[in-house]
Amino acid sequence: MKDGMGIIKIQGLKVYAYHGVLPEEQAQGQTFVLNLEMEQNIEAAARTDDLEKTTDYGRAAVLVSDWMTEHTSKLIETVAAGLCRMLLETFPLLQRVTVEVQKPRAPIPLEFETVSVTASMGRHRAYLSIGSNLGDSRALLEEAVEKLGRASHTKVVKVSDLIVTKPYGGVEQPDFLNGAVEISTILSPTELLDFLHEIEQEAGRERLVHWGPRTLDLDILFYDDLVLRTKDLTIPHADLHNRSFVLNPMMELDPGFRHPVLGRTIAELKGALDAKH
Ligand code: ADP
Ligand code: MG
Repeated sequence: MKDGMGIIKIQGLKVYAYHGVLPEEQAQGQTFVLNLEMEQNIEAAARTDDLEKTTDYGRAAVLVSDWMTEHTSKLIETVAAGLCRMLLETFPLLQRVTVEVQKPRAPIPLEFETVSVTASMGRHRAYLSIGSNLGDSRALLEEAVEKLGRASHTKVVKVSDLIVTKPYGGVEQPDFLNGAVEISTILSPTELLDFLHEIEQEAGRERLVHWGPRTLDLDILFYDDLVLRTKDLTIPHADLHNRSFVLNPMMELDPGFRHPVLGRTIAELKGALDAKH
């Protein structure tokens, strides 16, 4: 664990709730036992001795208990993941949450002590590219950034200036307005892509009436230092090192960020691209 970081643990928290595959489990309920680990930087709290600067474990325990009784799930997987998400969405200082849900009265026809599922979830830093060349591009991009930040699972950390980019390739089309956004999110890469598609579609729907399709393009440039290649998702974004409309806004956000595949920083990639022109 890094200096300054701390773990707040709540162990053996008992909650009577109604989760289970069997109908009687959902009707009658049973006692669950929870172990929670909440990681955050505790430096400021330790220095100031101020409750406001940390996560209130009493409040966290009560919220966990309330959430467990207000929701009904078949699986303790759902419960453990849902609790991680709720805690991260409620307490902004938390960086990672690990929740073990034990079910000592699970319907197992043998003698056993307990059965449990542990889920862990943390915040991730991602960089997005945002672009538009149809409609009121500035308004569309600003609205997209606002939607990103309004979601309970995602925070906007930093937004670059929006730059006007000439479209290349000789196709006759309006200039682009491009930028980049740094976000902090608890979504997985796939969930993040789905969320971006939703925002694109919302802009698309408004646009269908007024301007026609494709007024908004939201791409994932980087997600921590993850390297991912699936049918639907390539991270880091393919070819970003050849695009000045990506590198220029990224220079504003984080020139020292190192491309995890190319091994070079944004500033180095920009230098190399500029040298080509
Ligand atoms: P483009 O962004 O290339 O102009 P689209 O916005 O229509 O084109 O995206 C097409 C598809 O690209 C998306 O549906 C998505 O599945 C895929 N894709 C692959 N990698 C990424 C990424 N890093 N960010 C966003 N979309 C991606
Ligand atoms: Mg796209």
